[in-house]
Amino acid sequence: MFFTKRPKLESIVDANQLNPELLSRLFSDADKIRRTEAHRPGKNRKLLKGKVMATLFYEPSTRTRFSFESAMLKLGGSVISSENAGEFSSAAKGEKLEDTIRVVSSYADCIIIRHREDGAAAVAAAVSNVPVINGGDGKSQHPTQAMLDMYTIKTELGRLDNFRITMVGDLAYGRTVKSLALLLAQRKGIELLLVAPDSLRMDRGTVSYLRSKSVKVTEDADFEGALKKSDIIYMTRLQKERMAKDEYDASKSLYIIDEGRLSLVSPSARIMHPLPHVEEIDLPISVEKEDKRVAYFRQAENGLYVRMALLIELLRK
Ligand code: ASP
Repeated sequence: MFFTKRPKLESIVDANQLNPELLSRLFSDADKIRRTEAHRPGKNRKLLKGKVMATLFYEPSTRTRFSFESAMLKLGGSVISSENAGEFSSAAKGEKLEDTIRVVSSYADCIIIRHREDGAAAVAAAVSNVPVINGGDGKSQHPTQAMLDMYTIKTELGRLDNFRITMVGDLAYGRTVKSLALLLAQRKGIELLLVAPDSLRMDRGTVSYLRSKSVKVTEDADFEGALKKSDIIYMTRLQKERMAKDEYDASKSLYIIDEGRLSLVSPSARIMHPLPHVEEIDLPISVEKEDKRVAYFRQAENGLYVRMALLIELLRK
């Protein structure tokens, strides 16, 4: 049986709410769920029967919304959804986020929210009667992405301590790297290399926090040198929608993984990406399918199993 007599989880707006004990429990449940889905899927279909999850998305999403919705359906629950809440909810009529959340929380047992503004998930959690999960708020955080990223590192490398990870690309507006950095800071023996254009460097607060937690951080690392010596290469997309056009034009195409660069990556290393990938990954589909080092589609699939585990943790009786 999953999760009997454990303290009930509340909203998750910040990756720091996902402590190592909770993550380790979620990861071992995700492993079980993955096996059950492969061999006896019907067993999972009863776990959240009668529960309703609302997905309220004010920004585009493929993986986060679909994997949460699929997770809920595979657990026997139901989903109510606004995939473009800015236009199709009463936000378009001028309703405040707080009012929308108060109403939706009386119809659902949990709410997954994505919003373009930093801090929106915390605003929602403060007024909701049911747990709110931050599915990405502006350039701030994306805690469940960080959770699935850590699960992927564990399944791919076999460990969560003592490894070298390089983050590449937009470390300023990218929310996934910030949440992942917070979870890395909980571990031991982490060396973090940062590769970013000057204007897209990771914020000072996060870098000093990481250092205070004994993460060995190197900023302005050399891209090709980092590719050669990292266990995990975490690529990111430039967050075009959050920056001015000239800022985007000046930084795009600086750090690209193509077949030449891939040849620098060690056979046991893994390339991750929260997706969608655009010009920063320039690999043929055949290489993406066959080269074990390309881990980002497995990473996306992992999102389903850990989010199933998280929903059980949140909504169990
Ligand atoms: N899907 C991720 C996010 O929502 C990464 C990205 O969009 O670049 O933050």
